[in-house]
Amino acid sequence: MSHSLQKLHTFGFQASAAQVLHCKNNVELLQSLDKSTKSKQLILGGGSNIIFGGHADLTIIKNEIKDIQILDQDAHHIYIRVGAGVIWADVIQHALQHNYGGIENLTLIPGTMGAAPIQNIGAYGIELRDVFHSLAAVDRRTGVTKEFSKKECRFDYRESIFKQEAKNKYVITDVTLRLTKRDHQIKADYGAIKKTLEQNSITNPTIQDISNAVAQIRMSKLPDPSIIGNAGSFFKNPIISKNKYTALLEKYPNMPSYPISDSQVKVPAGWLIDQAGWKGKAIGGAAVHDKQALVLINKNNADISDLIQLYQSIQLDIQSRYDISLEREVTIYKNGVELIDD
Ligand code: FAD
Ligand code: NAP
Repeated sequence: MSHSLQKLHTFGFQASAAQVLHCKNNVELLQSLDKSTKSKQLILGGGSNIIFGGHADLTIIKNEIKDIQILDQDAHHIYIRVGAGVIWADVIQHALQHNYGGIENLTLIPGTMGAAPIQNIGAYGIELRDVFHSLAAVDRRTGVTKEFSKKECRFDYRESIFKQEAKNKYVITDVTLRLTKRDHQIKADYGAIKKTLEQNSITNPTIQDISNAVAQIRMSKLPDPSIIGNAGSFFKNPIISKNKYTALLEKYPNMPSYPISDSQVKVPAGWLIDQAGWKGKAIGGAAVHDKQALVLINKNNADISDLIQLYQSIQLDIQSRYDISLEREVTIYKNGVELIDD
């Protein structure tokens, strides 16, 4: 049996899997789980951070648990429990409609609630961990549900325990967020947001204004996956030592950076790729987006080999120019096997 995955991942390669199961609640999920050690199952949300190529001898479990409930509240905060299959855009919409603050900077990130903690989604100065309270996840081997606190998730920059030792061990079923009901902490210090608010003559922004500004910025520079296949930022922004950065500045005086700690800085990967001349370049049908060099696109019926050749060529070039290694943010499955870079 073969089920097409082309519409189940935003890069849009022709790909297939042995089976696709749609689980709408915990009972269906538990019935679908193969608890054996030889399990060939993969959990999928919106497919916006994963790329498939070829045929996968795997059962894809689409987590479609959808529910938003109020768990608790006090004078300032509301705790909402969100099913893993709720589309992130609907979580944003729900929050804005009820005037709950804290996630407006994360407007227009594709995907589902359940995948958001996996890489601690972030944009425009906010990360999921800033509003995260806890999550529930089913152990894929035992079927037992475990509650994870924020500390136990070990969030970091685009990282969590679910990308490390707990990788592929749990299915996240719901996530509890702690949002503000009043006195929202507006985060408008990110350059592009500031500029957009100024252009729109907004001096005292509401959470809705921030969401609108973020949507406006994103639509102006990011390709819409329903039109051009892509998986967002292909690489993470590298974090390097301040000493190395100071040495690089001698050769590249315009290289931007953002402080991470007393001894480390973050360098925008898009800038490195752009400066190295990759913007708009293509290998076969895969290309570097011409407005944002960090986004690789399915420009012209690419296949997975084009994409692999393109991203590995970029990695090699950036390594040799700047002595910086670019780590992929996106997960790739080729013929059912996860690709691991050296
Ligand atoms: P999927 O791609 O379906 O899955 C991602 C990983 O999580 C896979 O390993 C999968 O096995 C696992 N997984 C999914 N659901 C579950 C679950 N319930 N339990 C256990 N494991 C699960 N990311 C950002 O951080 N910031 C951005 O600003 C951003 N912008 C983007 C813009 C575009 C145009 C695109 C295409 C992507 C962008 N992304 C961004 C990346 C992506 O949207 C996020 O990582 C998102 O959280 C992925 O959600 P998903 O449901 O599509 O996950
Ligand atoms: P940008 O504004 O062109 O800036 C380039 C990079 O510099 C960003 O990735 C960001 O790092 C960093 N940066 C810029 N201003 C910063 C500040 N004031 N403080 C700290 N870091 C700053 O970025 P962009 O590509 O248009 O993306 C805008 C935001 O959306 C970013 O936060 C980005 O992460 C997010 N985004 C993510 C994806 C994805 O798939 N992961 C896709 C599109 C957009 P950070 O990335 O660490 O914030």
